Amino acid sequence: MTSLNNQTALVTGGSSGIGAAIALALAREGANIAITGRRLAPLEATLAQIEAAGGRGLAIQADVSIAADVQRMVDTTLQRFGALHIVVNNAGVGGGDHIHQQNIEDWDRVMAVNLRGPFLVARAALPLMRAQKQGHIIAISSGSGVDYFVGNGAYGVSKHALNALHEFIRRENEDFGIKVDTICPGFVDTPMVADYPDLNLEKCLTVEDVADLALWLLTRPARVNLGAPIRIRPMENPKKTP
Ligand code: NAD
Repeated sequence: MTSLNNQTALVTGGSSGIGAAIALALAREGANIAITGRRLAPLEATLAQIEAAGGRGLAIQADVSIAADVQRMVDTTLQRFGALHIVVNNAGVGGGDHIHQQNIEDWDRVMAVNLRGPFLVARAALPLMRAQKQGHIIAISSGSGVDYFVGNGAYGVSKHALNALHEFIRRENEDFGIKVDTICPGFVDTPMVADYPDLNLEKCLTVEDVADLALWLLTRPARVNLGAPIRIRPMENPKKTP
């Protein structure tokens, strides 16, 4: 295992849930961390946790679906830390209905955050990673990006496409020393599922379960190659009425 000392990571949606847990785990392992999100107050609360754990962090208010915001977050990270080695494309929103009754604005919003956002972030980060011949991009996708959960099409289509996006990124950049891993979690106890009906939160994964996997992927021995996407899910179905 290699440590993350002298590595710089950018975690989108890093103020809460899985993103915050990954940011903390990477900071504890020695990485400089830039966390991004739309609201400054929760970003600063997570940044305080990173610093309390002895980490070096930076909070950048930015919307992943806006190209200028994404360029600014990459530029600000470079100005502060001098390099960018790791990107965690984590920011995402839920939402979906049966296709025939799907609200169009909601469809566009889910695609903008879950697909356009990671595309913009990768597009801004990859030239740097290719030039330095080193980089690691992790996508936080979903079991919805592998299975087909009827009635949740917008989210599902965005995550299937997110998996495809990262497979293209992997194939286009493997000769430049860039690794890409796509994690597809099942239910995780985060704010995203807080209003989900009939969910037994005690049976869900914890954010640390996903962060542990991300950390292992980032620090694994160079000889270990993995198939994609990587699924992680609760041992028992957390839905009370499956
Ligand atoms: P969360 O709501 O705590 O995290 C989502 C984060 O994305 C938040 O910090 C939010 O502020 C940020 N975000 C949303 N829109 C944004 C935008 N336009 N620009 C920048 N940031 C934005 O929930 P979470 O469960 O931690 O979600 C993280 C990722 O995990 C998401 O991509 C989600 O799809 C995925 N996921 C979650 C679960 C689950 O059960 N919780 C399961 C599978 C996959």
